[in-house]
Amino acid sequence: MAGGITRSSLPSSLREGLVLPSDPGYGQLRHTYSYRGSPAAVLHPRTAGAVVDALSYAAASALPLSVRSGGHGISSASTNDGGIVLDLSAMNAVEVLDPGTGRVRIGAGARWGDAARALSPAGLAVSSGDSGDVGVGGLATAGGIGLMGRKHGLTIDSMAAATIVTADGAVRTASAAENPDLFWAVRGAGANFGIVTEFEFTAAKVPGVISTTVQYDTSDTTGFLQRWGDAVEAAPREMTAFLYLFAGSTAGMASIVYAGLDADAARRALAPFLALAPLLGGQSQAMPYAELVASPHAAHTGAVSLQTRSGLAVHLDAPIAVRLAGMVASGTAATLQIRAVGGRINDVDAGATAYAHRHQNFSIFVGADPAHRGELWREWDGLHPHLDGLYLSFEMDKDPRRLADAFPTATLARLRDLKAVYDPAGLFNTNFPLRA
Ligand SMILES: Cc1cc2nc3c(=O)[nH]c(=O)nc-3n(C[C@H](O)[C@H](O)[C@H](O)COP(=O)(O)OP(=O)(O)OC[C@H]3O[C@@H](n4cnc5c(N)ncnc54)[C@H](O)[C@@H]3O)c2cc1C
Repeated sequence: MAGGITRSSLPSSLREGLVLPSDPGYGQLRHTYSYRGSPAAVLHPRTAGAVVDALSYAAASALPLSVRSGGHGISSASTNDGGIVLDLSAMNAVEVLDPGTGRVRIGAGARWGDAARALSPAGLAVSSGDSGDVGVGGLATAGGIGLMGRKHGLTIDSMAAATIVTADGAVRTASAAENPDLFWAVRGAGANFGIVTEFEFTAAKVPGVISTTVQYDTSDTTGFLQRWGDAVEAAPREMTAFLYLFAGSTAGMASIVYAGLDADAARRALAPFLALAPLLGGQSQAMPYAELVASPHAAHTGAVSLQTRSGLAVHLDAPIAVRLAGMVASGTAATLQIRAVGGRINDVDAGATAYAHRHQNFSIFVGADPAHRGELWREWDGLHPHLDGLYLSFEMDKDPRRLADAFPTATLARLRDLKAVYDPAGLFNTNFPLRA
């Protein structure tokens, strides 16, 4: 049916942004960060009304539909073969609504790095993730584990409202005052409920950050991981630390971020981290948060084809550290990444948002070359009993049991009831469908 999509067959709101396989820009749009695709058409709506038009056009064409904000999806491919990609990148406005309260509006198609840059002159920031190229829509509908998370919470914890186009073609506001059930669901399971076109957040006042990168000799990987875990848990909540290990290398990399510019306090908070293992290098620098998460807008080639598994943990204790160290040593895991959660994230009641994991301290991500997929899945099965929950954004296992990891029983039941109300026919079922 690819031949069926023509400019003249589209509603007028979508004609301008149509990109077909024969168009020169198609090569830059067909793939995403992790997936290769060959869609029949890429649409670029500019308004919520155009998103509604696109939904009804896609329904009438009966073609697969992918929703794309920044194209960095891991748990879901925001491209397809022969279908329609609804690319929200033109809906990327960032507006400071009230510098006093920090209320800001951010289009779902913005990249987090660009949003940070736009908020910086007002001294405001929303904690997002470690990559500024990640899109606002995909991250803010799932959680948002960021480099200021322990101080300022998950991205969804700053959300005040979302504008969402639901399966019936309605444009709804979801907030504490309007459609509160949808607001609850969007904050952790948003991809199942519609297409968010813009968000309002209460941004934090962030004068800057002190960012430290450290290279450790991680030859004693098991011991190092346990010491790392203890240091992260003991750190003041201004400090959020992410760790990256790579197969075939005993040089581990850490990004340790102090949210604020108090150099003495940052130095004190950093000291325990510098005693964890022999240091191979490192540097500290005060900078605007926007510089930490700058967005290079790297071209998407679909070339990053890692197979990923993920889970949350309360502590990095021996059973976890031994298994993770083993995966890196054997080469099963090409990369191991451990992001700190906890702090302010865990102040939120577990029932307050669809993302319900409010007592864990670590988000663990392992990426393997596709050739090692089988080993990774087997070894992850051995680790699974020691984990406690799952952040879906880093997970590629499509087994429906992952939903039970991601959502506690009562949360999942409530989400399924709401899915039956807002998306009974399963239009938004490409990203861990709640009702398959
Ligand atoms: C290099 C890299 C680093 C990362 N680091 C972090 C990190 O530090 N912390 C963290 O929390 N996550 C991180 N992630 C995971 C990231 O948050 C998710 O992959 C997220 O889904 C990407 O958002 P996107 O808009 O770029 O994705 P896209 O590929 O555009 O979308 C992915 C999926 O999200 C859903 N979606 C996208 N936009 C919308 C929308 N507007 N409305 C409803 N549903 C939508 C759709 O199901 C879509 O298929 C990282 C990912 C990568 C690739």
